[in-house]
Amino acid sequence: MSHSHHPEQHFIQRTGWLRAAVLGANDGIISVTSLVMGMAASGASSHTLLITCIAGLISGATSMAAGEYISVKSQSDIEEADLKVEARELEKNPHLELKELTHIYIQRGLDPELAHQVAIQLTEKDALEAHARDEIGINDITAAKPIQAAGSSALSFSIGALFPTLSILFSPEIYLEKVVLVVGILSLVILGALSSYFAGTSMLKGSLRVAIWGIIAMAFSSWIGSLFHVTPI
Ligand SMILES: [Zn+2]
Repeated sequence: MSHSHHPEQHFIQRTGWLRAAVLGANDGIISVTSLVMGMAASGASSHTLLITCIAGLISGATSMAAGEYISVKSQSDIEEADLKVEARELEKNPHLELKELTHIYIQRGLDPELAHQVAIQLTEKDALEAHARDEIGINDITAAKPIQAAGSSALSFSIGALFPTLSILFSPEIYLEKVVLVVGILSLVILGALSSYFAGTSMLKGSLRVAIWGIIAMAFSSWIGSLFHVTPI
């Protein structure tokens, strides 16, 4: 399949990519901040908190990448299998396939004569591409890219996890827990608004929803952590 060069498609691509990145960063903030809050409530030292934070970042990014790779890879396997079937059909029954394509264009609103011409020309240009796009619905934008997906979700998770990491590194020890909490909530509010923006939904609702779920996760971890409270050194 050739790459498309229409400027209006780049925006769609970028929006999808940004939206996925924002969601990954949300995960990184919520899970690592909750982890740190839980450990802090158990009375862990700031040194332990930093190690916990980094371990959370690495394990989270790795598992995000693995999960994303597996899910996108299975999607791309399906697409590949579909394309193989289609290529075989094109070789075996070129006539039937041309009819099929013509029918698709008639259903999309072209009159039979024009549909037939379009089908013939597109078949001459690249039959498999035409069938992939107009029959199966695979194009360059939807084509699944497992490595890219895995890399970008690991990266965005890590960026989210950087918020609690930097809070621990740069805040005075007595305020550490509060700073981690406040930075966590503020960054969630901002990212929640951003992800609503990309999804085209209400930014206020989006940021509130993410912030509330984030606070619940953090409060729950703190509560669990406090059950294990050991006297700070
Ligand atoms: Zn076909």
